[in-house]
Amino acid sequence: MDGFSQYANLSGNPLWDLSENDPRCINVSCLAYILGYLDDQDRYSNDNYPLYAYWTTYFYCATVALFAIVYVNRRLRDGGAGSRFKEQAKAYWRMWIYRRITGKLGEQMDMSLGQLTIFIIATIFILVLPFAQGYFLRAYFRFGSPPLSVRCAMLISGLLPICIALAGKVNIVSCLTGISYAKLNVWHRYIALMIYILTIIHLVPHVIAPIREGGDIEFKDLLQEGRRERSGIILEVSFTLMLATSFPYFRNRFYEAFKFLHVFFAVAFFAFLTWHVTGEYLTPDFLWASVAILIGNFIARAVYRNRTTTSFNEFVQGYPTSLEILPGKMTRIVVQCPNKLRWRPGQHCYISIPGISKLQSHPFTIVSLSTPYLSAGPNDLVILMRAYSGFTKAVADLAKTPALNITNQPPKPSMPNTPSHSYSSSFPGTPNQSYSPSFPGTPDTSLTIAPSFNLPVELTMATRAWIDGPYGDFHPALERQYHGITLVGGGSGITAGLPWLVYIASRMRTAAHGLKGLHGEKLCKTRTLHLIWSIRDLDWIRWADRELTEALRDVMIANTQPQRNADGEKGRAFKLQISLFVTKSPTKAEMKTAVIDLYLRAGVDIYNPHARVEIRTGRPNYAGLLPNMLDRKRNMILTCGPVSQKIDLANSVAQLQSMVIQDQAMEISLHSETFGW
Ligand SMILES: Cc1cc2nc3c(=O)[nH]c(=O)nc-3n(C[C@H](O)[C@H](O)[C@H](O)COP(=O)(O)OP(=O)(O)OC[C@H]3O[C@@H](n4cnc5c(N)ncnc54)[C@H](O)[C@@H]3O)c2cc1C
Repeated sequence: MDGFSQYANLSGNPLWDLSENDPRCINVSCLAYILGYLDDQDRYSNDNYPLYAYWTTYFYCATVALFAIVYVNRRLRDGGAGSRFKEQAKAYWRMWIYRRITGKLGEQMDMSLGQLTIFIIATIFILVLPFAQGYFLRAYFRFGSPPLSVRCAMLISGLLPICIALAGKVNIVSCLTGISYAKLNVWHRYIALMIYILTIIHLVPHVIAPIREGGDIEFKDLLQEGRRERSGIILEVSFTLMLATSFPYFRNRFYEAFKFLHVFFAVAFFAFLTWHVTGEYLTPDFLWASVAILIGNFIARAVYRNRTTTSFNEFVQGYPTSLEILPGKMTRIVVQCPNKLRWRPGQHCYISIPGISKLQSHPFTIVSLSTPYLSAGPNDLVILMRAYSGFTKAVADLAKTPALNITNQPPKPSMPNTPSHSYSSSFPGTPNQSYSPSFPGTPDTSLTIAPSFNLPVELTMATRAWIDGPYGDFHPALERQYHGITLVGGGSGITAGLPWLVYIASRMRTAAHGLKGLHGEKLCKTRTLHLIWSIRDLDWIRWADRELTEALRDVMIANTQPQRNADGEKGRAFKLQISLFVTKSPTKAEMKTAVIDLYLRAGVDIYNPHARVEIRTGRPNYAGLLPNMLDRKRNMILTCGPVSQKIDLANSVAQLQSMVIQDQAMEISLHSETFGW
């Protein structure tokens, strides 16, 4: 009461003795207002509000910290023997988190039970908080904004910086957790949706409270006079439009329009929010924090993007690039990058072809290896691009035009005519010729075998491309942690597995030479490498024939080195098994010829026990296949492909955790990639 004594009825204030429900009793010149306000504060104090924003921040910081600890632990782990208890506990945990809901619902959700659990916890946390303490409206609207509204506003304040942090391609959460921005994007969208739901909950009491007190007229007056009510409505409308244009239905059909509108509405959102919250306590702090994070994201991206210096010509026009048409609407793109540009297996980049559009850039997985991992050859960045209806179709069309240089800038003379230059086909000291295939009893078989599909034709188009990246998961070196690696690809999803296939095979070859790491550690623990690739047509093998043959050759060479066992893994050969599943049934003869064709190109004996290829028809039955492919020690299964395949595989891997529990394997880990967000 002390703070209000100055307003006491010292000079005969006519409003002082009005009753609480008198519409004129609206401020501190009325005693009933003062008493009512204080009563209301006793029931629910304004001091509680900031806690909601802080709790939200703590919740997400704790979640990020948890994932960061897991990530650091994974990076530091050497893949050696852990405690049986830990392995079994992890297996039980994975039995649950890997599992996915089957059927249409599962395909639409496209998430594992592990992800679903985190979403459910986060949703319960956010949606319970504003309601848990009750007291949604103040006794009178004039005593202050409804507590339910303010709590929601505080939760929104806490969520906003996190939502913005998750939006950047180079962002702090990715750096701390090793999770690619592409995977975190689902959280950016989820948090944006939560913010939207909270804005609705925030808005409703703001409509009910004035109408309850002064009827429609009071609400209309507020709209006409109240800055916050007007700015709030405009903010809500612009946010609704931003969300509506971000939903998959719109985004998938009009991606370029979505990108433009998203930036436009985001700028509008910040402008209207600043207008809406100016003068509020606490909320502006979170708003400025969000703006700071946004600017930080831009700067980090700009620095990252320009970290390698290029010549002026390359900066303006892009790198020399060749396009090659492959069957099944696939285009193979080879970009000649400077040696300074490096990437790791599993990463992707954004490519723009100024000859098509200077503004469009699209993400694609990098199939080739870069300089530190290449044994020889140019630092070519290879992309396999499946044509849809927009940019990718324009690239495919460009590749079909007669070979000419659309930029009028002749590419470097060293530019490969066909992208086969992207991988060296020989290893120092092990010339290819020494591994020509032999077919016992059929001395000249190679001459009589007709390839099952056309050999690559010289349909190569030269152009130029800008590369932005690489981006993507910060994978620890898999070959140092896992003894068995299985790559599972469906259709064009093979692009996620191919760089790993070539990389691990090349590591096997290096390890066979007895080379060790800086601290004497093994360079490659992986002993069994499998590829399971489902394709519709047999001739889709051509998408990846260079990588497949490269890997076969490397594994064959790895097993011919006398030093193979120098790293202590005595008696264990390096093994590669490529299993191709073709759904549009080819004839047996066609399949046989395709297999022999791969062996021939790889220069590998068809009876080589270590580098094997098989082609089967139909879809793979993962539950039946995987147990025979797994190593007794640590296993990693990497997958990318259609959602239905992901569901099948994830449920099989969840089931296979029983092998760890029964001590038939030390670990079976699963990692899924997705083309999109
Ligand atoms: C991390 C990542 C890696 C990828 N790797 C490959 C790959 O190796 N090979 C491959 O063939 N495809 C890959 N994709 C998919 C590829 O980016 C899209 O197919 C391509 O951008 C479609 O362009 P478009 O204009 O022809 O699309 P449209 O015909 O307009 O649309 C086809 C689909 O692509 C989506 N899409 C369109 N533009 C983009 C964009 N800029 N970013 C993300 N999605 C978009 C649309 O939402 C729609 O679902 C990858 C996607 C991501 C996110």
